[in-house]
Amino acid sequence: MNGLDIVERVLFSSEDIQQRVQELGQEISKDYRRGLGQDARKRPLLVVGLLKGALPFMADLIRALDIPLEYDFIAVSSYENGTSPGEVRVLKDLERAVGGRDVLIIEDIVDTGHTLRHITRRLWAREPASIRICTLLDKPHRREVEVLPDYVGFVLDAPWFVVGYGLDFGELHRNLPYIGALRPDLITD
Ligand code: 5GP
Repeated sequence: MNGLDIVERVLFSSEDIQQRVQELGQEISKDYRRGLGQDARKRPLLVVGLLKGALPFMADLIRALDIPLEYDFIAVSSYENGTSPGEVRVLKDLERAVGGRDVLIIEDIVDTGHTLRHITRRLWAREPASIRICTLLDKPHRREVEVLPDYVGFVLDAPWFVVGYGLDFGELHRNLPYIGALRPDLITD
């Protein structure tokens, strides 16, 4: 099945996403530029992408950021071939040290909040100067633990399971250029 066969409807087109990414890029650059100005010795922002879902969003967002930055990745286990939350497991850790650094975590979607709570606790233990979270999508109504993203692309109020632009269904459909709601009849659990 290709993208359109499994998608009930397109929620955010490629153009919607690109426009929002540019807006986020400007907002984030402005915020960090302010901070960078205070201390000339400050090291560049460390942008941390959560693999695999954040990859397309991160690739576009970093090119919309007009500040010095480095980037690195953490790979976390995703849901097991379906739509219900599993345990958070770190499959690949950062290569860069985060002590004293400003860290911006890039996530595809915040759902229950378990993934980001786990990751932020893990990173705070390494004593960064700051941690902020930027997520493309947020499902605040699904939250089980408190996570408040600093930057949000789009809020999803309806109970959609979404695919495309990095988001998968059984590891497929991450390459769709838009974000679509999965057909409800395909969700089994
Ligand atoms: P959380 O730990 O906040 O419950 O889940 C975050 C992760 O769950 C995301 O990084 C993503 O992998 C997955 N996830 C949550 N909601 C969706 C969704 O609607 N579609 C897809 N494809 N993945 C989702």
